[in-house]
Amino acid sequence: MSIPSDERQLTFLTKLQRLFSEGDFTATYKFALLIALSDLAVEADAPGDDEVILSVRQIADRFIGLYWSHVLPYSAGAAAAQPDILVQNNGRQAAVITAIARFRETERLASFEQARMSPAYSRLVTDVSQTVSAQPLTYLQNFGGGTDAFIYERLPQGMIRLKPGVAYCMRRFHGLIQQMARARWIAHIKANQQNHIVLGMADDLEDFLFLTSRQSLMKVGQGLRHLEGTACFYCAEPIASEADVDHFVPYGLYARDLAHNFVLAHPTCNRSKSDTLAARQHLEKWLTRLDLRADDLAQIGSEAGVIVDPACARKVARWCYDSAIQSGSRAWLRAEAYEPVDAAYAACFGATPC
Ligand SMILES: [Zn+2]
Repeated sequence: MSIPSDERQLTFLTKLQRLFSEGDFTATYKFALLIALSDLAVEADAPGDDEVILSVRQIADRFIGLYWSHVLPYSAGAAAAQPDILVQNNGRQAAVITAIARFRETERLASFEQARMSPAYSRLVTDVSQTVSAQPLTYLQNFGGGTDAFIYERLPQGMIRLKPGVAYCMRRFHGLIQQMARARWIAHIKANQQNHIVLGMADDLEDFLFLTSRQSLMKVGQGLRHLEGTACFYCAEPIASEADVDHFVPYGLYARDLAHNFVLAHPTCNRSKSDTLAARQHLEKWLTRLDLRADDLAQIGSEAGVIVDPACARKVARWCYDSAIQSGSRAWLRAEAYEPVDAAYAACFGATPC
């Protein structure tokens, strides 16, 4: 695999910074697009500088996932007289929100994962694909009064190709891109006059937009307790009180809920681990569980309505640990005990390249 030079990586970051500061953001779509592209880059098979081709439908599927819960009323602004769905465009409501709201209204499916399994989903993807294609994909790379297609080029038949080195940069700077996009997304909604009454004095907008619903986590927790008992995944001691449902690969590093990424833990172990990667002995246990319990965990995931994609969970973990090796991170073993993430971690994943 070839790695883009430091110079090229810096150029990518500088341009991204310019895109954020000089780009025109009339809707929140461009933030969703950057989040979707960086996630898809992490999940792509090609390491390093290799070519990554994505379909607009794949991106539309990510848009629906990102906006899925945004069509619900933002209840914190209960004083609002009008229906309190956040407006995500400076003029009329964003078309993607309207399409998802209509779909949810007609299909009456509680979760995004259930929606994806439904026969009507394909039409929704077609609908959203048209908006993604006509709007953010067309305009994302316009900034500073010109066009600089430094991220992707359009291909015929609803495909795009990431420019050489872009997938690598998106993987390497994934956290940075996600944080920038989310912060700007939140700011966009706050700045929109139409949302002022709905938002009121509430300060949980970030949780509303980007956090897993408590209800899904509760269902996952119940499923895991039933499957694996009530021992803490990390310290193996029984959990006497309420168990936490922990993201094995921290949500702070990869903010999509994958059924196979959840484990039960003591609240104290969970808090202590926080947004750190777990140490090798935990990783080995998690990978073994991924192999042995894939179907049971899939079942729990689909009942709780979270995304079921064990291959993706594995790829994401691989990417996280590879990045940690590269940047000399330390992994969490137990409270106040950490160890360096070294090459032995990569070996846990076996010979399969990722
Ligand atoms: Zn524990």
